[in-house]
Amino acid sequence: MSHAESARAHVEDLADFVAASPSSYHAAEEVARRLEAQGFTRLDETEAWPAQRGGRYVIVRDGAAIAWVVPSNATTTTPVHVLGAHTDSPGFKLKPQPTTGARGWLQAAVEVYGGPLLNSWLDRELRLAGRLALADGRVVLAATGPLLRIPQLAIHLDRGVNNNGLVLDKQNETQPVWGLGDPIDADLLAELAASAGADPAEVRGFDAVLADSARGAIFGKDDAFFASGRLDDLASVHAGVVALGHVAADGDPRAIAVLAAFDHEELGSASRSGAAGPVLEDVLERIYAGLGADAVEVHRAYAASWCLSSDVGHSVHPNYAGKHDPVVQPVLGSGPILKLNANQRYATDAVGSAAWRAWCESAGVSTQEFVSNNDVPCGSTIGPITATRLGIRTVDVGIPILSMHSARELAGVSDLHDLAAVAKAFFTA
Ligand code: ZN
Repeated sequence: MSHAESARAHVEDLADFVAASPSSYHAAEEVARRLEAQGFTRLDETEAWPAQRGGRYVIVRDGAAIAWVVPSNATTTTPVHVLGAHTDSPGFKLKPQPTTGARGWLQAAVEVYGGPLLNSWLDRELRLAGRLALADGRVVLAATGPLLRIPQLAIHLDRGVNNNGLVLDKQNETQPVWGLGDPIDADLLAELAASAGADPAEVRGFDAVLADSARGAIFGKDDAFFASGRLDDLASVHAGVVALGHVAADGDPRAIAVLAAFDHEELGSASRSGAAGPVLEDVLERIYAGLGADAVEVHRAYAASWCLSSDVGHSVHPNYAGKHDPVVQPVLGSGPILKLNANQRYATDAVGSAAWRAWCESAGVSTQEFVSNNDVPCGSTIGPITATRLGIRTVDVGIPILSMHSARELAGVSDLHDLAAVAKAFFTA
């Protein structure tokens, strides 16, 4: 297969991954499902775990998944190489008592989740997806087909919109329609329950979000572009799954290779399944306990360990070049980016930069840098949080995209493929 063909195949597989992952819960489950199909064993956090040496394991905790490969010759001080990414994306979450409506329309009550570009959610056919907690104690995933839409007001009724800008009232003007009739006779949760084959009367709790129903698409000259929902940050989660699968198939890595796909990054990561919570530390503790390591040996292992925190970053936008640094201007198609920030919004430092360049070199991948314009501060991600929590040296990287936090973001096909190649080089370094 040529490089272009294998990049294309990788990105078609990413489109499948995104379609299977309309919510963070689906994404965590899809990580586990794919790795189990490649011989990983799924562990339960409430059970005792088997001996770790030579094992390939995965756990799912709510919307997070952690997967790892332990070399068969691992010692009590073998370091970890953790690829960190996140399963959630900004958008909308269903409120309690979600079946609403007015004037002959059925509507859904939704709450804004994280910082979406609200306008980008207009006029799309949306799915409802998440998990249901049932009366018998089971928790099941549920996802409808195209069901809802947030219709934009016609220009005839909003003459100034192209001059004054679109300002949406977050409460009143973002509530989707999903049918016609009287809300008294309708039940949105019953639609979601039916999609999972569950009895609506048995639903005791739900976490459900909206997701674009449109599949990701490759397009543009030389098929350079890939547009899709949830590239932030399923592009990194998917690259990690692909890379870890290759690592497991190839035999023993030198370090313990870990994929950490956290939830709740878009809210600041403070949850039991977020990067600021204990989930990664809990797993690492159990891995080292399984190797017979004492507390000092764990610290020795951490001191030699690495975390590659992978999340999307900004490509230079040709229409808004002034928003970017005047010199450092990454662009789609020229490779994954190394993210730097003087105020530690990114954890990358000189030593991390050098390591990243070495991993890219060994993968045969070119890389670019990202730094913010001083007047346009950047966001942050899981890197600094992981570095702060565990004291593991961390490098913030990712792929450059446009339209970050849009319902449909834009990435470069070759960058997506290259990220998976560097991820594999990182796991096996
Ligand atoms: Zn992100």
